Amino acid sequence: MIPQWARNLQLAEAQLQSNHTFSFYKIMSNRKAVGIDLGTTFSAVAHIDPYGKPQIIPNAESERITPSVVLFDGTNAIVGTVAKNNTVAEPEKIVDFVKREMGKSKQQFHREFDGKNYSAEELSALILKKLKSDAEKYLKVPVTDAVITVPAYFNDSERTATITAGRLAGLNVLQIINEPTAAALAYGLDKLDEDQTVFVFDLGGGTFDVTLMRIESHRLEMVATNGDHRLGGKDWDDVIVNWVAEEFDRVHGENPLLDLQSYQDLQSRALAAKIQLSSRPRTTIVHNHNGKSIKLELTREEFERMTRHLVEKCKAICEIVMQEAKMEWSEVNKILLVGGMTRMPMVREMIASLSSVSLAEDVNPDEAVAVGAAIQAVLSLLHEEEISGEQMLPAATRQQFSTREGGLIQVRNITSHTLGVVLWDETQLEEYVFPMIRKMTAMPATAKNSFGTATANMQRAIVRIVEGESTLPTECTPLGICDVELPPFLPKGSPVELTYEYNANQVLEVAVQACGNCATVSIERKTGLTEGELDRATQALGQLTIA
Ligand code: AMP
Repeated sequence: MIPQWARNLQLAEAQLQSNHTFSFYKIMSNRKAVGIDLGTTFSAVAHIDPYGKPQIIPNAESERITPSVVLFDGTNAIVGTVAKNNTVAEPEKIVDFVKREMGKSKQQFHREFDGKNYSAEELSALILKKLKSDAEKYLKVPVTDAVITVPAYFNDSERTATITAGRLAGLNVLQIINEPTAAALAYGLDKLDEDQTVFVFDLGGGTFDVTLMRIESHRLEMVATNGDHRLGGKDWDDVIVNWVAEEFDRVHGENPLLDLQSYQDLQSRALAAKIQLSSRPRTTIVHNHNGKSIKLELTREEFERMTRHLVEKCKAICEIVMQEAKMEWSEVNKILLVGGMTRMPMVREMIASLSSVSLAEDVNPDEAVAVGAAIQAVLSLLHEEEISGEQMLPAATRQQFSTREGGLIQVRNITSHTLGVVLWDETQLEEYVFPMIRKMTAMPATAKNSFGTATANMQRAIVRIVEGESTLPTECTPLGICDVELPPFLPKGSPVELTYEYNANQVLEVAVQACGNCATVSIERKTGLTEGELDRATQALGQLTIA
């Protein structure tokens, strides 16, 4: 029997295009894909409605964005505003800013609640579970697939961790896409006829990304990208927190930051003060701790002076990206502002000081990334249709996301980091990094190179994979190791062929072929979960009730 929701959707589709009713019901009953902006401070979900329009999906609390905060309460994990509102009352039960920890192993980062350790992936999975479950309640269909966004500057382990979080939440992760690419998709979907260059400035709660995108012949191409994934609104908040704490210490001889509750309270007061200073010239901050109190006035001018170094960092990264792209500001047509922090006057003034390029006003800084991810989700399903030959989406949707020539809208990303291998330099007697796939290579990318064994009769080829722009191994991030057994009695210099494949998600696969041995080994990452660990973690998370 067809459920009521399916009949309603069938009706909606029938009004749209009567001869595609069946195929629409079919996809809605099998697969429903959403776009998820998994943010440092807030997350958002969007989908493409039956009329082909991107829509934000409100959460169970009827909010369009959900705070990325988790509150552990026995067997309940409460995600969102209720958790956020408890950061001061129950700081020991709260986790926030998890995105900044993505890609770290459990040894490097974990939080313990009720005797159980949670990794950054697992904590992110709880946020994703809440988003998935709220979307299902709203759409009245199971949500099976998702495109999840990450900062363009996220590295291999941070991306792998995001995919793992999606899988732990029970989602088929269609693709991981860069936040600026998603924002440009949301902006450019109805402007693909105008060739233009767009500068995406994305300053959120915890990360900063700048990306140059080119819209040309109905294609969206990333030209250059740079950023700092540990620079965001929290750094501005911390400046206020530290200033108030120092003043408190000066007046009362006590550091309020040593008390967790007092620290959380000060954090939320600092955040509120920062937001107020975006629309008011001055604000007052009151902080109480241990029966003592302080009341301070902060002007926008003073706040801007205290945080000038942060905005200067953003400015430097903008200039670097222009240099990397070998472009002049006069070649940029629009600036897209994404992320809540772009509402700050000092950030807008800095951008205005860089160039006279106009701002794209029709972009919602809080929602554009989720909307772009939803567009990419539908594009991914349409690509799957092309490969399988099976029609899964209504023809109207295909038309909506096709160019005038009939092909699907193309999105092309570039790599944000160089991927290399550590080699031995016989003349200098030292290790160095050989770049296999350079930064700014179009994706997906493949590189093949042949190297000789360093000594005669080598037993194993141990390939050390690193990420970074330096030739010194110590200045790069180790990604993992491929360990291949070699045939016996090989002379020195025997060929070992290395293949790096960087897929559309910017996740690396490595293969090693040694002397006809044809051993193909996948990268063993320092971080991330094995399949067994993934199953166990999924089961453990399943025991928590998500609200
Ligand atoms: P996002 O990660 O894009 O959700 O951005 C959230 C960040 O933007 C947080 O640090 C917020 O405090 C900050 N934010 C949001 N609105 C404003 C505002 N009006 N003025 C200054 N900062 C803001």
